[in-house]
Amino acid sequence: MKLSVPSDRIGSLLYRSTMQLGLPVLVVAWTLIATVLAVLVAAVLLALVWGEVGWRSLAVAAAVAAIITPPIAYKVGQLMRELNRSRAALQRLALIDALTGLANRGHFYHQAEQLLESDTPPDLPVSALMIDVDHFKSINDEAGHAAGDAVLSAVAQILRNNVRAGDFIARYGGEEFAATLPATDRDMALAIAERMRVAVAESSELQQLAQRGVTISIGVAETTVALPVDAVMLAADRALYAAKAGGRNRCAFMEVANVLSTTARLRALAVGSQEPAAGARSARA
Ligand code: GH3
Ligand code: MG
Ligand code: MG
Repeated sequence: MKLSVPSDRIGSLLYRSTMQLGLPVLVVAWTLIATVLAVLVAAVLLALVWGEVGWRSLAVAAAVAAIITPPIAYKVGQLMRELNRSRAALQRLALIDALTGLANRGHFYHQAEQLLESDTPPDLPVSALMIDVDHFKSINDEAGHAAGDAVLSAVAQILRNNVRAGDFIARYGGEEFAATLPATDRDMALAIAERMRVAVAESSELQQLAQRGVTISIGVAETTVALPVDAVMLAADRALYAAKAGGRNRCAFMEVANVLSTTARLRALAVGSQEPAAGARSARA
């Protein structure tokens, strides 16, 4: 019978126990295990080589193991903890925007895909927002880039304060933010967007940071069927464009149906295909 050693399982067990148990407990546990193993190995070797097992030799083996294991176990435990900390920091860097503390675009996209392109069609409408700070370039120009950064960070905080548990808000890039609002129809999404807009426009903190009033424009899109994220975000982006064209510091809505042919064309271009791509996996109406 072939005996297979699941080394990755043993490794992950060691790793998890290192993280869960405190370092002192771990050092004691590893020292005990190493000592028992040293005695066993010494006993087998002595029996094989000399034909008899001397207690003194076993005591020496146990003592050597008990002396050298603690510093090694301590060092290894420390390294594993450092590795864990670095891994957590790396994970954070991969998902979170450093300036605002919001999810970054990649994280947003992944989350939106799960929400919008799920094989289970949503029971309730899902809405998306595209949010853009108005005339942000002139804030940078007038108050300086550092003030611009502080404004972005404060806007992010206001947006975060104005979404509900279950909503997902992210920094989409530059001075743009995006949000998905599950179980939210067009009217509710517009109400949330309006609440965000007013909160930013009335923020005295932002006024101080930017040395002038700060406003945002918001595009809203809604879908009741599973659709590609691109389509929904494009509709929200078009709505944002309409809000900008309408004078900024306002919210606007765009039907996703209006952009489906554009999305199909973009997808076809992206895959280098000449065939018309399916605009949306929206058959499940
Ligand atoms: P609009 O109302 O049409 O959106 O005008 P706008 O000035 O906000 O838009 P535009 O795209 O012309 O300028 C956006 C500016 O945002 C340009 C860019 O330098 C600045 N920006 C992008 N990312 C950051 C950032 O992380 N920090 C700062 N301070 N500025 C940024
Ligand atoms: Mg912009
Ligand atoms: Mg802008």
